[in-house]
Amino acid sequence: MRIVRRAFIPLFQSYRRNRNKYAREIQASLTWSADEAMVIHREKLAETLRYCLKEIPFYRKTVELCPDVITAENAEDCLLAFPVLTSAMVKEHFDELQCSPRPDSAFINRSGGTTGTPTTFYLDQESEDWVRGTKRYHMRVAGVESGEERWVIWGSPEEYQRKTRTPKARFASWLTNFKRINGFSLSMEDLDRLLDQMETRAPKFILAYVDILDRLAARAEETNRDMPKTISMMVTAGTLYEPMRERIERVFGPALYNCYGSREFGDLALSCDEKEGLHIVGLSHYIEVADETGTRLPDGEAGEFLVTSMVNRTMPLVRYAIKDYGSMTREACACGNPWHQILTLEGRTQDLFYAPDGRKISPNAMVHFCWAYGMEYGTQVQMVQRDVDHLEVHLLKTEKEKPRDEAFEAMMRWELETLFRIPLTIDICWKDEMAVTPTGKYRMIQRQMKETDTNESTH
Ligand SMILES: [Zn+2]
Repeated sequence: MRIVRRAFIPLFQSYRRNRNKYAREIQASLTWSADEAMVIHREKLAETLRYCLKEIPFYRKTVELCPDVITAENAEDCLLAFPVLTSAMVKEHFDELQCSPRPDSAFINRSGGTTGTPTTFYLDQESEDWVRGTKRYHMRVAGVESGEERWVIWGSPEEYQRKTRTPKARFASWLTNFKRINGFSLSMEDLDRLLDQMETRAPKFILAYVDILDRLAARAEETNRDMPKTISMMVTAGTLYEPMRERIERVFGPALYNCYGSREFGDLALSCDEKEGLHIVGLSHYIEVADETGTRLPDGEAGEFLVTSMVNRTMPLVRYAIKDYGSMTREACACGNPWHQILTLEGRTQDLFYAPDGRKISPNAMVHFCWAYGMEYGTQVQMVQRDVDHLEVHLLKTEKEKPRDEAFEAMMRWELETLFRIPLTIDICWKDEMAVTPTGKYRMIQRQMKETDTNESTH
């Protein structure tokens, strides 16, 4: 089996030469100094902006800037002349945001949306190769070679089906030694079975949704298992809140990588051994942090991420509001990677709870409350903010429901009211199933206040 894989994998990959080339280019950029990386980063941005002003009707119309004045030195300032692009604007100006004629290699990509209307946009062969090349590079960082046993635990039934439905997809899975596990609605028995398998024959690598790996870790702790600490793990599609990271590493060991990506752009950043931030892939994307008005925020300040693709020439998204919230830094990292970092990744903008005085409540704090309820009632928990003074605690129904504990709930109320600085309505509801996004993702904390009902989720 191993010999077959060794013979086939290079053949299988060779016709996708650009993907390897881009993975190698990213790898090679790690030897640059931070200044050298910055120069290239700005040059690519300048090139992208000049291209948009010349070839993309939407930008020709809305941005009053002559393409020839844009240089590497002023590219970051020139970028500010471009409007923040929302998913609604992508829909409205869909045709004007594309180059003409559209290359034959272009294909439609869709991102999920909680409103049921996904954002549609074009990718081309070049941008797709960058997406795959970046993924390949990230796997190498995690120490995984082609052909080694890897598990992918998807939380999204749609994605799971897409990758396992056709014989071709199944053959590719077998050949590359990817075992795809349907992580959608895993029962306790399913979790125990997976943990049994990990104990007897651990895979080299696991790629999983954050919340699934966290639930596996919680279950292993609950059942006092001593798990192997040798598995390399990468979490994606969700926020790796600090308490989750601690628990996963306590149970499965330290080789945990946090990958930040989206449907629109693929992988955007990956954590390093320093475990402080996530290094961006500066050869393909420019990421900035801005406030609600689109004003760029200084290093270290938290706001919304705006992403500019520097590799998609068919439908380049510039300053695209990806609806994620966090901060960035350009400070040097001890690991030697010259690319700047996403310092905090605090979740989807709709995962942030607000206090009546306008303060943002730390999602990490809310995760702790979820866990406290979960431990008390022995089940999965979701916390939903309905209004500034109204929270709902959703508990997943179990066979034997634990009776409500008034003393515990009073203590939780006291702590939550201290945090929110206001009397709160806290409803505790038992649910047959937990709410998930249309792409099957489960979010532990969710804001569903009236004015944010139209928000969309893209990953
Ligand atoms: Zn680093």
